[in-house]
Amino acid sequence: MRKPLVAGNWKMNGSRENAESLIAGIKEGLGVNAAVEAAICPPFVYLSEVGSRLSGSGIALGAQNVSQHGNGAYTGEISTSMLLDVGCKYVISGHSERRALYGEADSLVAEKVVAINAAGLKPILCVGELLKERESGKTEEVVARQLDVLLNSAEGLAALQNTVIAYEPVWAIGTGMTATPEQAQDVHAFIRQRIAAKDTALAQKVRILYGGSVKGNNASELFAKADIDGGLIGGASLQVEEFLAICRAVK
Ligand code: PEP
Repeated sequence: MRKPLVAGNWKMNGSRENAESLIAGIKEGLGVNAAVEAAICPPFVYLSEVGSRLSGSGIALGAQNVSQHGNGAYTGEISTSMLLDVGCKYVISGHSERRALYGEADSLVAEKVVAINAAGLKPILCVGELLKERESGKTEEVVARQLDVLLNSAEGLAALQNTVIAYEPVWAIGTGMTATPEQAQDVHAFIRQRIAAKDTALAQKVRILYGGSVKGNNASELFAKADIDGGLIGGASLQVEEFLAICRAVK
């Protein structure tokens, strides 16, 4: 059984005050919910404080990015050991905003996934196609390329054993244009099959989240699909009631 995960990606939003009220509301509303694992990924500067507030709640802490390097002379960067030190469990890698705005190529994303796993953290690997790629029938080709860089190396395959995959069609992120449950399920099934071709046991256990304009009112039909194991939530994770409604929508 794959336990559904709902992870909130706050992106570069919030303040200490706002983080405090968001966490208080989520903790109170979620209570003890054995059906879903929830995680919060705040900006780096709030990780410690959010981590303390989450302590004992069962809600996991995640980071939005990390350096591929170990500690050293990398001004402005954050290492995996620092994330462990402040209590992170998850680290997002390959979010489309990092790929598009910061030039993170498949090879760098894979390097980060391997480093995250090696540190004892769990990667959340984001994959997904641009609108023009979907419109030209290239969705599977793009997602396969983003996955294969890990599937085709021994250390990549080892890292995938502890990885959560998030299918996030780029055209659906922050646009209100959610993929239909059928569109999402098709790609999730494709991802699982591609993994199965290398490792059938891994394909059965790997959690594949959907991300892209998930809200309280569309989450249940997405999560009802066989290969959708929860969501990576951007905008709606900044609103207590929306995030709670999404957590409650897991099958
Ligand atoms: C995201 O940034 O990962 C995301 C899915 O954003 P949104 O939910 O706002 O579309």
